[in-house]
Amino acid sequence: MITIKEPKELQQELKRRRFEAAKQGHELTVGLVPTMGFLHEGHASLLREARSSDVVVLSIFVNPIQFGPNEDLDRYPRDAARDLALAEKEKVDIVFMPEVEHMYPQPTKTKIRVEELTSRLCGASRPGHFDGVTTVVAKLFHIVNPDFAYFGMKDAQQVAVLSQMVRDLNMDVQLVPCPIVRESDGLALSSRNVYLTGEQRAQALILSASLKEAYDLVTEHKVTTAGELKRRLTERIQSKPLAEIDYVDVLTFPELEPLDEQVRIDDYQGDLIAALAVKFGNTRLIDNMLFEKKDVALHV
Ligand code: AMP
Repeated sequence: MITIKEPKELQQELKRRRFEAAKQGHELTVGLVPTMGFLHEGHASLLREARSSDVVVLSIFVNPIQFGPNEDLDRYPRDAARDLALAEKEKVDIVFMPEVEHMYPQPTKTKIRVEELTSRLCGASRPGHFDGVTTVVAKLFHIVNPDFAYFGMKDAQQVAVLSQMVRDLNMDVQLVPCPIVRESDGLALSSRNVYLTGEQRAQALILSASLKEAYDLVTEHKVTTAGELKRRLTERIQSKPLAEIDYVDVLTFPELEPLDEQVRIDDYQGDLIAALAVKFGNTRLIDNMLFEKKDVALHV
């Protein structure tokens, strides 16, 4: 495993490897896993998926432009030594760990912005967040030129926004969405979970529990409309005194279009997502559940 900090150096290294492989008559495939570090089993699951490519590139970069002025950029957890040990264990080939000045040499004047999908859910409560995400991911795609890029469905809106960007800009990369990895008690793994006190963590279990309940209620046809689903989730989360709801929403996926409250879930022909963001103290957690038409229909 090698570690690279400079974008140019990574471009040259990959160019060299592709050239060497081509000389042997082999077309090298590259898989990219972008992260902000403080790695956990969720990240590890993406790295394992990526192993089907010849070269696995893990990027670790706490991207300042996707944080708002009052967000947790300064206290975002970091542990480079631990991250490198996990990367080694997961057989990563190249770790790309640039500094801020490597990624954003001043002045930078270009941003990538996906319209509409970024105005909902996290985009509404974190203005500019997704512009930061699409800009840094577009840069990573240009630096690595990956055949495959792996993203967790934990950040489902991110998957939807990046898929739109790839389509709109004819980027030659296949995005691979990967399932949410959870603790055994249901809490979705997140680098931010370390901020939670014991009491907050215990109450935060309501997120995954309420989504699981919602899934069962929908597939058993006990909840039939989008509005009812939203109300159920909201009530369950509000039953925990430390939970402060940022949003609870039910949208189409991956278009992220709002649904009329009265729309019957069975009548909607595509997939739906129930997504939530809830604060416990200063820690904002997100979670979601995808209602795929095939699963909902299965139980009819
Ligand atoms: P982050 O370091 O939080 O920016 O996450 C990097 C990548 O890991 C993103 O694609 C996330 O969606 C993914 N990820 C984070 N947590 C999980 C999880 N619990 N399960 C699956 N993927 C995850």
